[in-house]
Amino acid sequence: MVNVSEIFGSMVFNDAIMRQRLPREVYKSLTNTIAIGKPIDVSIANVVANAMKDWAVEMGATHYTHWFQPLTSVTAEKHDSFISPIPGDKVVMDFSGKELIKGESDASSFPSGGLRETCNARGYTAWDPSSYAFIKDGTLYIPTVFCSYTGEALDTKTPLLRSMEALSEQALRLLRVFGDNASERVITSVGAEQEYFLVDKEVYNRRPDLKYAGRTLFGAPAPKCQELEDHYYGPIKTRVAEFMAELDSELWKLGIASKTKHNEVAPTQHELAPIYANTNVAVDQNLLIMDTMRRVAEKHSMVALLHEKPYAGLNGSGKHNNWSLGTDTGKNLLSPGKSPATNSQFLLFLSAIITAVDDYQDLLRMSCATAANDHRLGADEAPPAIISIFLGQELEEIVDSIIGDSPYTAKAKNTMNLGVPLVPTFRYDSTDRNRTSPFAFTGNKFEFRMVGSSQNIALPNIVLNTAVAKVFRDYADRLEGCSDVELEAKKIIKENLGSHRRIIFSGNGYSKDWPIEAEKRGLLNLKTSVDAYACLTEEKNIDLFTSFSVMSAHELFARQMIMYETYSNTLSIEAKTMVDISLSQILPAIEKYLSVLCKNAKMKSDMMLDKNAIKFERDVIEKLSLLSYSIFDTANELEAANTRANQADSAADEANSYKETVAPLMSVLRDVVDEAEKITAREFWPLASYGDLTYWA
Ligand code: ADP
Ligand code: MG
Repeated sequence: MVNVSEIFGSMVFNDAIMRQRLPREVYKSLTNTIAIGKPIDVSIANVVANAMKDWAVEMGATHYTHWFQPLTSVTAEKHDSFISPIPGDKVVMDFSGKELIKGESDASSFPSGGLRETCNARGYTAWDPSSYAFIKDGTLYIPTVFCSYTGEALDTKTPLLRSMEALSEQALRLLRVFGDNASERVITSVGAEQEYFLVDKEVYNRRPDLKYAGRTLFGAPAPKCQELEDHYYGPIKTRVAEFMAELDSELWKLGIASKTKHNEVAPTQHELAPIYANTNVAVDQNLLIMDTMRRVAEKHSMVALLHEKPYAGLNGSGKHNNWSLGTDTGKNLLSPGKSPATNSQFLLFLSAIITAVDDYQDLLRMSCATAANDHRLGADEAPPAIISIFLGQELEEIVDSIIGDSPYTAKAKNTMNLGVPLVPTFRYDSTDRNRTSPFAFTGNKFEFRMVGSSQNIALPNIVLNTAVAKVFRDYADRLEGCSDVELEAKKIIKENLGSHRRIIFSGNGYSKDWPIEAEKRGLLNLKTSVDAYACLTEEKNIDLFTSFSVMSAHELFARQMIMYETYSNTLSIEAKTMVDISLSQILPAIEKYLSVLCKNAKMKSDMMLDKNAIKFERDVIEKLSLLSYSIFDTANELEAANTRANQADSAADEANSYKETVAPLMSVLRDVVDEAEKITAREFWPLASYGDLTYWA
């Protein structure tokens, strides 16, 4: 039995450990930095470093690492041991404040988008005291930011922290206007629900496409997909339950409050949700969740697939980014209270978020744009590529009454009585769920559902925080020094709700009519990632990020270039994998099967049987031979297209060329291969089938 309260946070240098091990003054100074973002007093670094090291060594650690988030989708770490030589050929374990605060590394092999010449390779990591250090596999992990020698951010954490600062500063201005002088900081919180697939390791080993590309590039559908909808919330199979139990306890040790787990819609698809935390910590925790999933799955002879669309025809995986705003005094600023219609502070915040989401739809869409997520957004199960907001009936009625100057009458709270006396009556929510909405209000938070399952959630939150900070700033500029705050606030709310009403949509986001309706409303529909990346460097967006010093123009151009390059590289790897599998595995397999069929046909015809007796062989031989020619031909074409795309002049042209020429050929190749799979004897087919992949547990 796991004693949860005992193991929870046992691997974390958290508040309890700090209080225990740090001198009072040092503890107070450090917690002030953590709680309200006060600048760190560097003179305490030596004391903290020493306490961290003592604790880590007692816990069995031998190394430390500055853990950071370069502009790839994964984290980076370089381990140094604590050893320091002393006379007599001996060593002691040592860790200085300098080593805690700053690390220096060769940054030249991380993506920089041109921010750094290869000859200026130096990069720095710097301690982020607001995210706890922790121990994993005998190493003390110190969360850090990562920048170039010239001080430009080369990571996701730096702009995220800057965006949190910006939002806090502007939100506080509004709170002051409403008479709140107690709050010192406004904090955004995030709870990221993580979807993933599991696959048996032995089956996975028979899928080189999963190994190289993270998704299946071929595969005829299995006879049973997800049409019976019997997997969602279904009973969890023992083998999976054992994996989940170990995953939970590993996460708990890391102080991650893993709370909810269940089966998802597609077979072998699951979800894990932790309890929300401040955005910076939530980002770090989500990265650790993904890493821990992969490692624990491995121990159970399984592989965790975090790709957005591992299997065609089955639901993809997302990451619902639940986002809210609260004060350091514990107030949730998105809580509507008992009567939202008369709560002008709430309505002002709501109106600001609606405005921000409408004004920066392009950036929000861009923040979830990856080659992998393109397979999901706009497909059947996922939110469409169009950004809209779902408010729920009550709030939508309030909004409309404000815009239309009509009185709003609150409906009585509803009580559910099921007519079964022993089931207690209960209140039901004033709003139903709308799973099709990309940005839904869910009671006291917004749920951004476009985010892809494998991505770092920092960027969506950077965009969200900064866009909202911008609108808060506009509002605060109008409200500060205003003699009648209530009246002016009402005016702002009415004006903004009126001019941004178009972004509110409560209908079915998957319906065919929605894109047409959205176009009439003037909403953007950026169908692919390549379309979305372009917006990052539009003037209005450069203005947004630079005016809050979240990212410089230089940093934005660099990030855009990395996005284009990553997109192209992803498609290039996929194309090369397809060509390789086609030529070296699929065609030879088809040939083997054909030769058996041909031998049989020959034997049968020698026996002078009825012509129908060899009809099966004849038909299959003919079909498969033609298909194998198509496979060969298309694979060659794909290879040529890949080479051509690679030679484009700019990163944007290259990505476009991948989208326009390589992607369509990939789907042609897939179609012919899948046709061939359907008529080839299973024992000859070199890849695990969709049935093997999704019905193994
Ligand atoms: P559902 O999306 O199914 O309604 P929950 O409401 O329980 O599920 O929450 C989903 C995720 O949202 C969890 O990670 C939860 O911790 C997080 N969450 C709940 N309240 C907030 C909040 N105020 N701010 C941010 N995240 C929240
Ligand atoms: Mg949810």
